[in-house]
Amino acid sequence: MDLHQSLLSRSDQKCELCDSANALEAFEVTSSPEAGVEAHVLTCQECRDWLSNPDLSATDRWTVLGDSMWSEHAPVQVLSWRVLDCLKSNSWAQDLLDMLYLDEERSAWSAADPIASEQSGGTHRDSNGAVLVAGDTVTLIKDLTVKGAGFTAKRGTAVRNISLVQDTPEHIEGRVSGQQIVILTKFVKK
Ligand SMILES: [Zn+2]
Repeated sequence: MDLHQSLLSRSDQKCELCDSANALEAFEVTSSPEAGVEAHVLTCQECRDWLSNPDLSATDRWTVLGDSMWSEHAPVQVLSWRVLDCLKSNSWAQDLLDMLYLDEERSAWSAADPIASEQSGGTHRDSNGAVLVAGDTVTLIKDLTVKGAGFTAKRGTAVRNISLVQDTPEHIEGRVSGQQIVILTKFVKK
């Protein structure tokens, strides 16, 4: 049996994420430790469209993952986890993630290649395009007048232990001259 046939029989000829039967095709779950059916999920057109261009404003359809995430098949679980992870700013998605237990291997595979949140605007990057994470130390690349605080944060100032402003990838927060301020990511570098 070829890949497509194998997936059709595994899935009972339905999208393994949402049960639709529309234009079913194999979708590769990247970074798989295995090949063939163990690296693919049978998906419908709508699921593939979303996966190729994640739209964070169209998330209601994904509540079906509450079922598919319990699939006995590793690639289905892993793909479900990645979609939920991408949507975790929605409380229902975070709740499902909290419930979903993955063994060590599946957990590592899930985390190996998150669904690109750049398209969803979720990644904080510095002026050089380097990804920023909470706890980083950054340096200001220009003098910044801090509105309302009455001082200027000087170019070259190190800001330690930054935090990321959720849902606003252009903003981080950090402490400068004893004050917690919001800083535009384009004015800092790691
Ligand atoms: Zn589907």
